[in-house]
Amino acid sequence: MLQISNLSKTYPNGVQALKDVSLDISNGMFGLLGPNGAGKSSLMRTIATLQDADSGTITFNGIDVMTQKQELRKTLGYLPQEFGVYPKVSAEEMLHYIARLKGISNDSERKELVKALLEQVNLYNHRTKYLGGYSGGMKQRFGIAQALIGNPQLIIVDEPTAGLDPAERLRFNNLLSEIGENIVVILSTHIVDDVNELCNDMAIIAGGRVVQRGNPEGLLATFQNKIWSKRVAKDEVARYQTDYKLVLSKLSGGKMIIHIFSETDPGNGFAMEQATLEDIYFANIA
Ligand code: ADP
Repeated sequence: MLQISNLSKTYPNGVQALKDVSLDISNGMFGLLGPNGAGKSSLMRTIATLQDADSGTITFNGIDVMTQKQELRKTLGYLPQEFGVYPKVSAEEMLHYIARLKGISNDSERKELVKALLEQVNLYNHRTKYLGGYSGGMKQRFGIAQALIGNPQLIIVDEPTAGLDPAERLRFNNLLSEIGENIVVILSTHIVDDVNELCNDMAIIAGGRVVQRGNPEGLLATFQNKIWSKRVAKDEVARYQTDYKLVLSKLSGGKMIIHIFSETDPGNGFAMEQATLEDIYFANIA
């Protein structure tokens, strides 16, 4: 269990990236959803012991993350947002290198592990290729392979599907979904569908604060029968924004569809809409 309590962080330039963030996260896939600049990476880097907070505590299975950094690192697998690779090293060589660094010194044990990892992330046939020649999706899958070395109990993946094409994204998410349910996996993303597809527990973060917390079904239940939609002209959107609690407006077949939040039937041509995670997301980050 990962317990984050009252975490705050202000950078030297005065930006307050985290404001009293508290989250209890159990085993399974946890989605941390928020727009760019919400504070996701600041939170992920702090949990990964790569930067300090100004105040607050983090504990993971009895480890005090702020003071027992080495202990936490032994049990952590981390795929950072910017995952640089050595361009002229093969995936196989690099995994051997990282495994040695993580203390797996027995040659045959390490060989077996590297082979199993390459198969798991579907890169075995590309194992001798230089990492510099990998596509974005292959790099991210390699990133997962390196994060899995050493049987981590806590895995953090920061914006892993940003920049991947749809097929690569699907392949990557399928891979993530196969990682054990008996460890904590935190997926930080601004892509609502990633959370929709993968996570059984989630939080929405905006402006450095946790603004929603729960499981997707529970959050959806609170929005049931309260989302109403209407097709409007593009130049009408601003007026609806003043008159109603506008959740989102999106183009569909060249027309504008707006969703509003209302406890009761708003009339005026609105029809009740099945609430989605996207509605909850946009209602909370505005
Ligand atoms: P996210 O990962 O959700 O995009 P970040 O944690 O990267 O959010 O950023 C949160 C806020 O903190 C942003 O306003 C960002 O510009 C700022 N920020 C992030 N890192 C630094 C830094 N090292 N120095 C100053 N400001 C930073």
